[in-house]
Amino acid sequence: MSIPEWREDILTGRRVLISPDRAERPIQEPGLCPFCEGTEEATPPEVYADRKPNTQPNGPGWRVRVIPNRYAAVRLDIVAPNLVDPAIGIAEVVLECPEHQTLFHHLSVDQIERVLRAWRERIRFWREDGRLGFVQVFKNQGVDAGASLEHCHSQVIGLPDVPSQVLREISKATVGGKCGFCDWLKQGRLEERIVARSERFTVVCPDAPRFPAETWILPNVHESGFEFTADESLHDLATHLLATLQRLTRAFGHPDYNLILKSAPFQGAEAYHWRLEILPRLVTTAGWEWGTGVLINTCFPETAAQRLRESTNPKI
Ligand SMILES: [Zn+2]
Ligand SMILES: [Zn+2]
Repeated sequence: MSIPEWREDILTGRRVLISPDRAERPIQEPGLCPFCEGTEEATPPEVYADRKPNTQPNGPGWRVRVIPNRYAAVRLDIVAPNLVDPAIGIAEVVLECPEHQTLFHHLSVDQIERVLRAWRERIRFWREDGRLGFVQVFKNQGVDAGASLEHCHSQVIGLPDVPSQVLREISKATVGGKCGFCDWLKQGRLEERIVARSERFTVVCPDAPRFPAETWILPNVHESGFEFTADESLHDLATHLLATLQRLTRAFGHPDYNLILKSAPFQGAEAYHWRLEILPRLVTTAGWEWGTGVLINTCFPETAAQRLRESTNPKI
């Protein structure tokens, strides 16, 4: 094991996490899945599990299971020499189903609700723990979205400090201590880009989407952190998430995608408004994008929203 480190480029201000152990991540061998029910002894002990009654920890009978990531980019237990800026933090893997399912949008609404609850409980846990300042939950669905193991799973990474890009967005979205998203959600011009709306949530294509059919799900009533989501909202959120992914699959030809939970850091961002981003990987970033940081999207958000809306979904 080597010590993961932050390295900063003093001329550009760029901070990069260097973590050689990540390169040791296993490539999936056919027929051998470390995330399937029945192979629990092959993983580190669970830190959370949604289990059937009368089943034992670290054995079969779970519905969702969370384990520490053995190939973590960050670690809590680092003792480093003074000169090193160690990459302290936690990394966990959320095993989203016991059977070998490889497509998240083929899970049931109930199962997706269990996954969302696991995300919420892990953020709550680390907030209580007090050693971290920020937790990022994300999911890579498919090889184009960066998944290295195919069994449905998502990831939780927590850091003591908030990354600068996240801080920049928060300061822009909360000018004068007011939530910009609460106003934004009430704007009339949003109507064209709304995919679905219920009493609790709005599904919308954003003002400046980075990818064709980029879609966000936001709570209608202000809430800074996802960990504050009430039980009764989780089912509604799961329903919207699954329906949107099914619409995306139908209207845009089964793309791989990332799910990114943008949630407030644990301190000082009460005016921030959490959201779940769906980023379909329909284009690849190349020289222009790396050179300028400017993404070229081939689809207007109004068009994407219309195509998603028209992709009728029997489940909503
Ligand atoms: Zn599996
Ligand atoms: Zn708000």
